[in-house]
Amino acid sequence: MNKTIFSRYMFRLSVILACNTAINVAAAASFTGSSVPGGVAVVDLGVSSEPKPQARYGSKNIMVIAQDGHWKGLVGLSLKTLPGDYIVSYQTEKDKGINKEVTIRVEPKSYPEQRINVKQKKYVSPNEEQLARIKKEKKHMGELFKTWRDTDVSVDMSWPVDGPLSSPFGLRRFFNDQPRNPHSGIDIAAPKGTDIVLPVDGQVIDTGDYYFNGKTVFVDHGQGMISMFNHMSKITVKPGDKLKRGDKIGEIGKTGRVTGPHLHWSLSLNEVRVDPMLFLPEQKKK
Ligand SMILES: [Zn+2]
Repeated sequence: MNKTIFSRYMFRLSVILACNTAINVAAAASFTGSSVPGGVAVVDLGVSSEPKPQARYGSKNIMVIAQDGHWKGLVGLSLKTLPGDYIVSYQTEKDKGINKEVTIRVEPKSYPEQRINVKQKKYVSPNEEQLARIKKEKKHMGELFKTWRDTDVSVDMSWPVDGPLSSPFGLRRFFNDQPRNPHSGIDIAAPKGTDIVLPVDGQVIDTGDYYFNGKTVFVDHGQGMISMFNHMSKITVKPGDKLKRGDKIGEIGKTGRVTGPHLHWSLSLNEVRVDPMLFLPEQKKK
């Protein structure tokens, strides 16, 4: 091998090695989150060769997962969070009773507006009886989002429906020009009857028919991570069912306040709704 051929060979070899490294890194991509309102901040809580620490954000327990040889705390940030510095406190087995602190910086993010025309008056201006039902359901949903089960959790998710993202998380919504709560999940459009599957392992904690949300399934994924799936035509699971990623939970419909058939999926961490797109594989992000 003369010198030129040898150096070309080495160049090719290094390109191949570089590609392999890139592929390996992509396959084992760590969850990095996004420290913005509606996002998830990730904090380092020490090496995972030590026992798992307990961490809190405000008065709420937060999820702790092992990643890259470290314990990482995942902090759900509400859409109402103002930009600035916030404290996560944690305790390790070793230093029992001593509170350690780590600071997270929340950056600003502005979400676009969405204006929707809803024809049915009962969804725009509910009467007193309907308002009473809505209030009761809101309280019940709040209780469900408080569910905490101390178990291993995966944040490696897949899409619950094969369909395009029709409405992203966080939109500031107006129904018939009246301001309403921001969009607290993502919408995935698909024809009625399309299968809805679980994006990550979990346990069904509630099913029901809700005023705005229609036929709904709540799933507890562990450590305060709860999914809510809405507007289904058919529910095929019941409370107590233990399911794996990819298991069917129901079918696409248009029950509740909708303009067409789709799945609305809300994902909650430490009792606040966060953007599910942060957990979904890149290739289907639109
Ligand atoms: Zn929605």
